Amino acid sequence: MEGLVIKSTGLWYRILTDDGRSINARLKGKLKLEGYKTNNPVAVGDRVAFMPDTTESSDQGIITEILPRKNHIIRKSVHKTGHAHVIAANIDQAMLIATLSHPRTSLGFIDRFLAAAESFRIPQILVFNKSDLWGKAEESLIQELKEIYQPIDVVCLTISALEKQGLEILKEKLANRITLLSGHSGVGKSTLVNALDPEIKQAVKEISDFADKGVHTTTFAEMFEISPGSYLIDTPGIKEFGLFATGLEELSDYFPEMRAIRNQCKFHNCTHLHEPGCAVLAAVENGAIAPSRYESYLSMAENQDNRR
Ligand code: GDP
Ligand code: ZN
Repeated sequence: MEGLVIKSTGLWYRILTDDGRSINARLKGKLKLEGYKTNNPVAVGDRVAFMPDTTESSDQGIITEILPRKNHIIRKSVHKTGHAHVIAANIDQAMLIATLSHPRTSLGFIDRFLAAAESFRIPQILVFNKSDLWGKAEESLIQELKEIYQPIDVVCLTISALEKQGLEILKEKLANRITLLSGHSGVGKSTLVNALDPEIKQAVKEISDFADKGVHTTTFAEMFEISPGSYLIDTPGIKEFGLFATGLEELSDYFPEMRAIRNQCKFHNCTHLHEPGCAVLAAVENGAIAPSRYESYLSMAENQDNRR
């Protein structure tokens, strides 16, 4: 039998079986996925084969196989070098909830999130919440942001989770997909999830609160079914979804507008920081690349450099 892993504690895995039941399963011995060196072989979003416990009325089972993954996101282990922690697998899209104020989500933060998702080749949705608080100035700022992000294939939505505005289009985007949900504390994640399905509110809030206290090194992501076939993964902390061991040479790969033109740079190993004949710098100069995006690139490049 097969099913979907919706929760992982590292020892036990909660599986939603294909025939619609929910069971707790353990791993059979040392099950390893080929080519992975991770602390946790099975992650939320994994599809697994399992053997149900034959005892009547038992809701337990044994995982016998991890089915091949479409993708997965990982974070470096803070405990063991060379080891990684798989946060989630088989993600269809990553959704960032952002707000212009209360709290303000910076463009730098948005770009970091998008680049991280792009590094895993995961499509992105940018949701601006609290539209009920906007006046003319905010509306036109949102318009400008859409003009930056839509051309690089980021789906941009505006909603008010509180007043339930814009949720129909959002629901369509979430339908039959596994979506990773992220955003600063206070942007309205719980309010949104509650608006989508009142029954799962509490669980999300608990996870978010836990993550905010900074004790998330051993927590695991959890997945919620918001409607049949539509799942949200609440990451236990925004830091978890960071870039994984990126070299400066690859960074521009995670900025689609730079990736598109970087083979026009004079030097094949151009860092787009100062080189002569750099196509990226020229595009920034003539306005084809948004200044805020290039600033984010610079700031990330600096961080990557410090890390080495
Ligand atoms: P979380 O930390 O991301 O889960 O954020 P919450 O859902 O707890 O929301 C934080 C605060 O923002 C709460 O006081 C919510 O009532 C408020 N809030 C959430 N969504 C909206 C919205 O669309 N408009 C307004 N005005 N406030 C909102
Ligand atoms: Zn260049």
